[in-house]
Amino acid sequence: MSSTERSEDPLKPAGAAGPASPARRRSAPLGGSEAHAVGSVGALFLGCIADDFTGATDLANNLVRAGMRVVQTIGVPSGPLGAEVDAVVVALKSRTVPPAQAVAESLAALAWLQAQGAQQIYFKYCSTFDSTARGNIGPVTEALMDALATGFTIATPAFPDNQRTVFKGYLFVGDVLLSESGMQNHPLTPMTDANLVRVLQSQTTRRVGLIDHRVVARGEAAVRERMAQLQAEGVGVAIVDAVSNDDLLRLGPALKDMPLVTAGSGVAIALPANFGITPSDQASRLPAAIGLQAVVSGSCSLATNRQVLDFMKQGHPALAIDPLRIASGADVAAEVLAWARPLLAQGPVLVYSTADSSDVKSVQGRLGVEEAGALVERTLAAVARGLVQLGVRQLVVAGGETSGACVQALGITQMQIGPQIDPGVPWCHALCELAPQEGLHLTLKSGNFGTDDFFSKAFTMLA
Ligand code: ADP
Repeated sequence: MSSTERSEDPLKPAGAAGPASPARRRSAPLGGSEAHAVGSVGALFLGCIADDFTGATDLANNLVRAGMRVVQTIGVPSGPLGAEVDAVVVALKSRTVPPAQAVAESLAALAWLQAQGAQQIYFKYCSTFDSTARGNIGPVTEALMDALATGFTIATPAFPDNQRTVFKGYLFVGDVLLSESGMQNHPLTPMTDANLVRVLQSQTTRRVGLIDHRVVARGEAAVRERMAQLQAEGVGVAIVDAVSNDDLLRLGPALKDMPLVTAGSGVAIALPANFGITPSDQASRLPAAIGLQAVVSGSCSLATNRQVLDFMKQGHPALAIDPLRIASGADVAAEVLAWARPLLAQGPVLVYSTADSSDVKSVQGRLGVEEAGALVERTLAAVARGLVQLGVRQLVVAGGETSGACVQALGITQMQIGPQIDPGVPWCHALCELAPQEGLHLTLKSGNFGTDDFFSKAFTMLA
């Protein structure tokens, strides 16, 4: 147990997170000229720290669907937020870094969120509880508890909508245990034990306990009673069972006033109601879309391959880039932009590196896996930048790593989360140094997400 002073009552707010105030009157929705109104920072209900980029968007998407206005930041911002929202998700890349670094980055995010007035802190990790042997879920949770001077929190990656359920402390992915789901072979975070009490206990000095399904099924009072009992027994973190959205919704009220919640993105569906917020279209309102449209795809996942084909079948212009030509020293980005320039006025264009697996393997064999990936990412990031310089203001990026490279090249540090295009993939509106006045509509699609017509459908949603 840490010697840091902390509250004895799990439900009693402690530290700077403070109590959840009665629901404040929600001000005018963000949108149109009100979006990103600088200097109108109000009380922030939820301050979230996510351990990776696409996980942050997943969490933000769930909060928006539950009615919160949400901004996602890329890393810890250097200044104040400058927008009135209900929740902020700070996206870190701390899942697999050394524990001390993950702790330092998470504490920096916490300090910034506290400075913005966050009333409750949410530490978001993967719904498959991805962690290395040393963490980082345990060390980060413990550091946040110490900093918030709180003696108790929960931990549950349950996300039933996404086939992640927790029963008797065991995590299931679909119908099988986590340790039989393929995650046992993950190159960075192999998960060989599905018992989350054991997994978390191996990463933290706090005692880990369980709030099991029978308790959750009985609702808020039973959960609160169990939390008090666990804390009296010296437990600091409780894994919570949940096999359905109803379980999460029953759990939610018992988390009101808890300074720190740790979870996957599932629990997020139940928290906005604690602040008097209900689902509303206004939460996902973005400024009106303007400008030219383009898709940049560096994903070779099966779903993306189908999306590229579908987009071309619909008659939209598309250009493939060749990694070997990039390796030969040709300025492929400049060539692509020269091709796109006259076409953009007629509608969306697609630039893709997408190839089938035998082509990718052959290129990787000649260039090396990392070198091939890096070359393609750098080129597509330069293309994305050039497209925005040509007037593109609605940009679809396909591929997780590709998205990271593009966001970095575009100098994006903050995105407001808008309507969901497909599960897990919302439109966002980003502040962008290349479009300082109007910003940029952007969607970042993980490789295997989205229906076949995703690329064309995305633009019709903004029309
Ligand atoms: P996904 O979300 O589908 O995993 P990512 O963007 O995360 O997509 O990863 C795809 C990786 O493959 C990137 O590093 C990208 O640069 C690389 N890549 C894309 N196209 C090719 C290609 N034709 N040959 C080799 N590597 C490629």
